[in-house]
Amino acid sequence: MKIDLSGKTALVTGASRGIGRATALELARAGANLIVSARSVNELEQLQLELQQLGVKALAVPCDVLDDNSLKELEARASEFGGVDILVNNAGITQGVKFVDTSLELWTKIQRINVDAAMRLMQLTLEDMAQKKWGRVINIASIAAKHGLRYSAAYNASKHALLGLTRSVALDYAKTGVTVNAVCPGWVSTEMVEQTVQNIMQKTGRSREDAIASLVKDVPMGRMVTPEEVANLVVFLASNQAAAITGQGLNIDGGTVMS
Ligand code: NAP
Repeated sequence: MKIDLSGKTALVTGASRGIGRATALELARAGANLIVSARSVNELEQLQLELQQLGVKALAVPCDVLDDNSLKELEARASEFGGVDILVNNAGITQGVKFVDTSLELWTKIQRINVDAAMRLMQLTLEDMAQKKWGRVINIASIAAKHGLRYSAAYNASKHALLGLTRSVALDYAKTGVTVNAVCPGWVSTEMVEQTVQNIMQKTGRSREDAIASLVKDVPMGRMVTPEEVANLVVFLASNQAAAITGQGLNIDGGTVMS
């Protein structure tokens, strides 16, 4: 099975590091042109160069997904670049905090970045995809979309919402050639998890090795997933080979069995 995304253009949010950066690079290796977005301008410009060195067209567009004007500007720049065939809603944040201490401000910020931005970018791109009779939306949710996790109520609620949104929008577009899916990673070795590791070390006095071991103790494979492994699942969902998959939340989590 050879995946060929040449002639397609992908927009990846949260592309400055971690899963988003790895996803942009793997999509480019499959031949897609890339629009990469995040707030960190230097990291984006560096990524743009790396993508161009892979032989594809690439455009870096700084954007804060908390700002609706910034999202509209991103969509406008993407249209000038030729439009979006593959939308990867990856930008996301988390913060470990007890439910009772979760301020309305933190709650709202997490929902706006993790859910509202994905909703807006889908609204801004899906109709064009449907007109072209081909499109892919891949929302980076989490296994937190499928079960509860302590000290993570706002994040879990946002990821449950993102998966619900994915399932419903997939039905709206099911007959148009556009698929809408979610990827649900478990622990992935990125800066986001590094913050969690640091928190555990600070709060419990554990070593770094022990803090990581405590995170992966319930993972059957006994390890974290790599950003590249998540990226490869995204590339598959973006491919023609995945045309019959829509409305799904695909786990990539080292073997935890759940629905
Ligand atoms: P990360 O390394 O912290 O990267 C997060 C990305 O989101 C960065 O590129 C960041 O870019 C961007 N971002 C954050 N706030 C933003 C804002 N207001 N506007 C625009 N971009 C913003 O995290 P990651 O682990 O790669 O996570 C990527 C996605 O995977 C997230 O949705 C996360 O919830 C999900 N996920 C991660 C894990 C995991 O274990 N790591 C597991 C399940 C799901 P700037 O700071 O440059 O703006």
